[in-house]
Amino acid sequence: MNDAERLWSPLHVPVRRGTRDHEHPTVAAARARAEHETPGEPAELDAEWLRELCSSAGLDDVGFVALSTPGLEAERDYVLEALPGTRSLIGFCLRTSRDNLQSRSTSAANRDVATTQELAHEAARRICLELQRRGVRALYPASGFPAEIHRYPNRSWVVSHKLVAVAAGLGQMGLHRNVIHPKFGTFIVLGTILLDRPISRYSQPTASNPCIDCGLCVTTCPVGAIHADGGFDFDACFTHNNHHELSNFAGWVEEVVDSADAADYRRRVTPGETLSVWQSLSFQPQFRAGYCVAVCPAGEDVLGRYVADPEAHARDIVRPLTRKPEYVYVDADSAAEDHVRTRFPHKTIRHPRRVEVPAPEIDPVPEHHD
Ligand code: SF4
Repeated sequence: MNDAERLWSPLHVPVRRGTRDHEHPTVAAARARAEHETPGEPAELDAEWLRELCSSAGLDDVGFVALSTPGLEAERDYVLEALPGTRSLIGFCLRTSRDNLQSRSTSAANRDVATTQELAHEAARRICLELQRRGVRALYPASGFPAEIHRYPNRSWVVSHKLVAVAAGLGQMGLHRNVIHPKFGTFIVLGTILLDRPISRYSQPTASNPCIDCGLCVTTCPVGAIHADGGFDFDACFTHNNHHELSNFAGWVEEVVDSADAADYRRRVTPGETLSVWQSLSFQPQFRAGYCVAVCPAGEDVLGRYVADPEAHARDIVRPLTRKPEYVYVDADSAAEDHVRTRFPHKTIRHPRRVEVPAPEIDPVPEHHD
């Protein structure tokens, strides 16, 4: 007997294989159970019961939409790839800790976003397990990352939580391209649960947009990504706020690879930036500036204080962010660089190494579902 046989022989369990005449006992039992079930359309889930389940799992608000809802057409194939047979979606939100997100302490803001995302995953998982116990197929995609990264730079998320949230009546998009909840404002984390059952009643989008068009997100964004006329410079936002993610991270890797020695590396990347990379790799990718969320006064819970004392809002929340000395990442000669130079001359401009990630060599798009 060789070493492998000595190790595995005692663990070998003879399998009792079923035959045509004598089915395996668990197969026979499952077949007997299935015979008692009525075939045909899966039963719809009661909306009130489902809402109560979501609330008891810790979600702060939910809405329900059919996958066939107009506006969600682009989500369909990706959703059906993740969970074949999906019929409906639960859009949900969890409140964030507002003072964390409004703080000039970036780590406090990032900590709460990460914590709330994890709570969202835990709540969604509890709901999925309860539905699974009742024979309903249910899946929760990540609230943020991980994503289907093999698709990058093409779409790499399973479902757009923002589109689902708007369709499910959880709020409307603000000027800053975040969903604003009528009560909680922009201080929420979004998520979605996919279900293989219809729901007895679906939600409707909110009648009005809570965004009050105050323009504070426009004036506070360090790279001028948000335009008062409704335009949005995605590249400027991604280059700065997501400095440690995706192609921006690839840029840091290439700086390391191209450095001739430690002194050369330090000319390219400052010690502070190296520590920031360490922090992002050790905990989670750190956003550089969620300032548009921090200053947003929209939403019933938030608006009262702003309306009562806008100067206090500016003093305690807006100006500490606009005055903050910090690195701001922009492309050379871009509108974003011009914006930092003219609006925030006390902030330090950095030109990150840009890496163009090519389209994936294997076509990973989902199969088309009729
Ligand atoms: S900060 Fe003002 S303009 Fe910007 S999204 Fe919020 S309410 Fe709308």
